[in-house]
Amino acid sequence: MIGDFLNALISFVIISFVVYFLVVLPMNKLIALTNKQKPIDPTTKKCPECLSVVPLGAKKCMFCTSVLKK
Ligand SMILES: [Zn+2]
Repeated sequence: MIGDFLNALISFVIISFVVYFLVVLPMNKLIALTNKQKPIDPTTKKCPECLSVVPLGAKKCMFCTSVLKK
């Protein structure tokens, strides 16, 4: 009886560790990766005049209509 309980307990602990290393660590890496990629948005840029976010190819700011350089 006690041996069965210990066996189940040890199995549970081992499986918990395996699940932790297989699921939690990759998830943390994935979350860190997505957080890193968020600020780098290649489709938008900031207007130097009004600091609004405008499309990368825009030649005029849609908020203050100032001419944008590259
Ligand atoms: Zn602007």
